[in-house]
Amino acid sequence: MDEIVSHIAQIKNRINQTCKKIGRNPDEVQLILATKTVSPERIKIAIESGEKCIAENKVQELKEKYDALKDTPHINHFIGHLQSNKIKDILKYDVRCVQSIDRLELAEKLHKRLLIEKKEIDILIQVNTSFEKSKFGIEPNETMNLIKKISQFSTLKIKGLMTIGLFSTEAEQVRKCFRLLKSIQEEIINEQIPNVEMKELSMGMSGDLETAIEEGATIVRVGTAIFGKRIYSDSYYWNEYH
Ligand SMILES: *Cc1c(COP(=O)(O)O)cnc(C)c1O
Repeated sequence: MDEIVSHIAQIKNRINQTCKKIGRNPDEVQLILATKTVSPERIKIAIESGEKCIAENKVQELKEKYDALKDTPHINHFIGHLQSNKIKDILKYDVRCVQSIDRLELAEKLHKRLLIEKKEIDILIQVNTSFEKSKFGIEPNETMNLIKKISQFSTLKIKGLMTIGLFSTEAEQVRKCFRLLKSIQEEIINEQIPNVEMKELSMGMSGDLETAIEEGATIVRVGTAIFGKRIYSDSYYWNEYH
């Protein structure tokens, strides 16, 4: 079981080494544990070893693990495709940040619910930087427009952008996705939209976190390299069709 703890140490080491190589401060890169399919018992080991932030992809899993984890202080992010009819659940299970906002209709429904509950929430805008038809996320060239519209919703605190890089072993192809996200971030910063913060770039996972950090990631989301292989393929979580 302390395998999990040593895997976390290895990830921290990869983050530190990359930051050192390019002269970034490792404190600028937050590790978030991607816990889909991982049992609460195993998640607890990670949290108790000092990790603060976990992220689920499915509301159902968030719900199932909620009771088991509620006495172990941690922060929940949501990184999966969110259906409008699950918005109430997201709020009920204390999600601090939804990283996967990718359409106006979803943002608007979330805003309306938050108004009723008198709450606010952090969000990231998910961008489809790999142009794969099957992947979620707003198209890169529509991102600015979407953000301008979402910025009108007072309960939604836009903190930055999220992407899933191309699933490829060719680091340079993956790098293009991350560069694109960074360039969109810069365009949006230049536009100085009220109520929009663009500090966070959530990109990089087990296989490509070095490339993401080199391109400016402030959040990396790591699952497999900490908890081991999952039984479901990632397409089950990432694609529209399954
Ligand atoms: C599963 C998942 C991750 C983590 O991927 P690993 O390759 O297991 O590190 C990151 N982001 C999202 C959106 C995920 O669904």
